[in-house]
Amino acid sequence: MANARPMVAIVGRPNVGKSTFFNSMAGERKAIVEDIPGITRDRIYADVEWLGRPFTLIDTGGIEPASEDILLRQMRRQAQIAIETAQVILFFVDAKEGLSPADEDVADMLRRSHKPVIVVANKVDHFPNHEAYYDFYALGMGEPVPISSSQKLGFGDLLDEVIKLLPQSAAEGEEGEDERIHVAVVGRPNVGKSSLVNTLLREERVIVSDIPGTTRDAIDTELAVGEDTYVLIDTAGLRKKSRIDDKTVERYSAVRALSAVRRCDVALIVVDAQHGVSEQETKIAGYVHEQGKAAVVVVNKWDLIEKSTGTLEKYARTVRASLQFMDYVQVLFISAKSGQRVHKVMDAVRDAFAQAKRRVPTGLLNDVIGEAIAMHEPPIASGRRPRLYYATQVSVRPPTFVFFVNDPDIFHFSYMRYLENHLRKSFGFAGTPIRLLLRARKKEESV
Ligand code: GDP
Ligand code: GDP
Repeated sequence: MANARPMVAIVGRPNVGKSTFFNSMAGERKAIVEDIPGITRDRIYADVEWLGRPFTLIDTGGIEPASEDILLRQMRRQAQIAIETAQVILFFVDAKEGLSPADEDVADMLRRSHKPVIVVANKVDHFPNHEAYYDFYALGMGEPVPISSSQKLGFGDLLDEVIKLLPQSAAEGEEGEDERIHVAVVGRPNVGKSSLVNTLLREERVIVSDIPGTTRDAIDTELAVGEDTYVLIDTAGLRKKSRIDDKTVERYSAVRALSAVRRCDVALIVVDAQHGVSEQETKIAGYVHEQGKAAVVVVNKWDLIEKSTGTLEKYARTVRASLQFMDYVQVLFISAKSGQRVHKVMDAVRDAFAQAKRRVPTGLLNDVIGEAIAMHEPPIASGRRPRLYYATQVSVRPPTFVFFVNDPDIFHFSYMRYLENHLRKSFGFAGTPIRLLLRARKKEESV
């Protein structure tokens, strides 16, 4: 059901300049949301737009320069992730160093995937200098595109090539008619995602079918509960095959989680009760929030926790403290192993999705906003009184409200937070983010 932006992944050997490119692209994007601690650092994706075409750039990263064979293994894994998750792959090579055997190996893999790949010859610091990247024609992957990440040269031509290869919106819309509710099961390796999916399938009984996954490791399973059909997107699987270090695995599982979150309606964020909410989970939860997706947090392996009076409440407070930006989310404590409270999971998913689809009638909305203003007027800023004329809900998933005001710049973030809290107090919206946008209303329109 979800309409995901196409993903463009960056792969290549260490030190070819991937991060330099990614950071400079990510930097172009103006911060429109409040920074969420833990996710802005070491960012793995950036939403960008070129000539009106939005897409998401992913830095698959995660390769440590190590011995040749380990390096090659990591590069293959990285390329595999890119093949699975991205619609277009940017294969970075170093024009200063020329072609390396590892490049050729990865090129082979990418070619066999039949995914659109652009060979990006980086570090061509002086334009035009065709000799610098002539080598890379030998990869047999079409014309290399020269850029200089540090000098920001050649970006325009590269982005032109990228958008030529992006899927047309018609093709992207194939999920548009889908009435099924997509649920991404996300979390670090080993928290019990597969176990949860298996227990859900057992408990809910009515399994419609297995859908051969579009990717090798993310397996989609259809599940009918009551009137609704769900598609569970299980992002597990990576750990089992992998012999690479933990940090690399975590990064790859984060990329995979991101791609699942993109195509989901509700994210089921699974946390291991024994470890609590780690930075990695905060990061995943951060994507979910930023992407405007509804969510349910599931603390799994609750059977392993020694309990006394108040254990659950105390634990719940700790979880909420780590996920402050998601204070609207429902937190469940379950055991995928014993089945304890697993039956509540799909109820919570359904509720969160229902909230994400909610529409508030304009009259009622303005009554509630009027009440909020009466209780607490927006404070004067730069000598002016912020005025709020009128609000309307413009979309759902997530519920998005536009406020017509005298001047968007004089509304403080904390006042918007107050309005959000007031909306939540009146209407709920449990389990879903909501968005509040400010628009200047022209003088002649004002009352
Ligand atoms: P990554 O490991 O592929 O992410 O590579 P980095 O982005 O960390 O870059 C590795 C090194 O190459 C750094 O010292 C960069 O400053 C340098 N570098 C990146 N892009 C360019 C470029 O376009 N020209 C030159 N001369 N150096 C670059
Ligand atoms: P995934 O990598 O997130 O898919 O995790 P798995 O579902 O493969 O589970 C990882 C390990 O945790 C396995 O050994 C499971 O048996 C175990 N596990 C999963 N859920 C529970 C649970 O609720 N309680 C206990 N005690 N162990 C669990």
